[in-house]
Amino acid sequence: MSVVITDSCVTCGACIWECPEQAIIPGMGRPSVDEDVCTECLGWYGESQCMIVCPASAVIVHSEPREKLMARFRNLHPQRVAQDLEIWRRIGSS
Ligand code: SF4
Repeated sequence: MSVVITDSCVTCGACIWECPEQAIIPGMGRPSVDEDVCTECLGWYGESQCMIVCPASAVIVHSEPREKLMARFRNLHPQRVAQDLEIWRRIGSS
């Protein structure tokens, strides 16, 4: 599991709108992250957008190997050119 939304979540929904992979699934309570779709924003942005926009610091990134994330991105978007690979970094990783 790469990204976890903790019980600090205030269910504002900001992460849902910012996720480029539509990996964050709304729920009755806090949303959850589809780990088969989340790329930790690799290929899209330099950082995990859900973590950046969360006003409650409720998002924790448990990093997966970069190679695995890149393979996931390529599989999901075979025609898309990956962006910001040079500046992609893991913030809040544990
Ligand atoms: Fe979506 Fe990026 Fe957060 Fe993964 S890290 S859930 S791709 S916004």
